[in-house]
Amino acid sequence: MTSQPISPISKAVSPLYLGIDVGGTGMKIGVVDNDGKTIGFVAIPTEEPRGPSDAMDRATAAASELLASLGLSCQDIVRVGLGTPGSQDISKGMLIEPPNHPHWHNFPIVNCLEKALGLPVSFANDANAAAFGEFWVGTGKVYSSMVLLTLGTGVGGGIIIDNQLVVGQNSFGGECGHMIIDPRPDARLCVWGGGRGHLEAYASASAVAQRAEEELVAGAVSSLQKNVGAITTKLIYEAAASGDAFSLRIVDETADYLALGIATIVHTLDPGLIVLGGAMNFGGTQSPVGIRFLRQIEESFKRRSFEYVANGTKIEFASLGGDAGYLGAAGIARMDFMKLPA
Ligand SMILES: [Zn+2]
Repeated sequence: MTSQPISPISKAVSPLYLGIDVGGTGMKIGVVDNDGKTIGFVAIPTEEPRGPSDAMDRATAAASELLASLGLSCQDIVRVGLGTPGSQDISKGMLIEPPNHPHWHNFPIVNCLEKALGLPVSFANDANAAAFGEFWVGTGKVYSSMVLLTLGTGVGGGIIIDNQLVVGQNSFGGECGHMIIDPRPDARLCVWGGGRGHLEAYASASAVAQRAEEELVAGAVSSLQKNVGAITTKLIYEAAASGDAFSLRIVDETADYLALGIATIVHTLDPGLIVLGGAMNFGGTQSPVGIRFLRQIEESFKRRSFEYVANGTKIEFASLGGDAGYLGAAGIARMDFMKLPA
């Protein structure tokens, strides 16, 4: 359930942290040591309709069981990191209106988990936690700044500048997917909130599938014609890998949209590293299509950017997959723990 190697407890570097990543369907819970190594891991279903209090109780029970299996208890953990989908009020520890969690609105989740576990909890947006995971122990580990873009149902984001996670005044920091890249009145609609012209409306996996679908319905010549009505980015990737010119063009155009967003991120923040995570990676570095996708983003980004800052900016795929969230949540707990007075 985790792709991380499980490090033996005998080699764990103290102190230890608990990282909890709450998703739409599952919750991932990891015991993580001070070096970011996973000592133990368990995944349980979210069961969203049962509500957040029930979920935090079950997460606490699963964590206690996991710790017991390692010969540990909650007393061996110094701090917990919790990542959940937004919207949130991070400073108040509140869930506000997470769209995929309709039964979880306006809930004091941090207080609830702190009471259940008897431990202090650091709270983060799930995409920010994933960014922090890649920053701490993934693709960004040798950098002091980076921006993560996750290409999934939407385009998530997380920003770390000079070793600090950007949370922002309204707990909305890092929502790069809602950057406006198309100002036209008939620009594509964003999945959430209905804003027009957002990066997410062009470059999320669902938007890419929809763009392809629309062109196919309009008669585009492609081996994907037989799949009209059920286009996915996986199908686009497979067709592109077989040399389908239409699918390759969709990949290239997606790269170009992302480059527009990345140019703005780099001109605003100069992070030095852009990490692309999420399910849509067109095979990643294991595939010529994935490598082409990355190169196209780089070339398009360079054409639009100041040369010296573009030359000092790397664009790479994420390396932690679905584990970035719980690792990053643990990493944020560690960062908060280290800020406490000794
Ligand atoms: Zn949007």
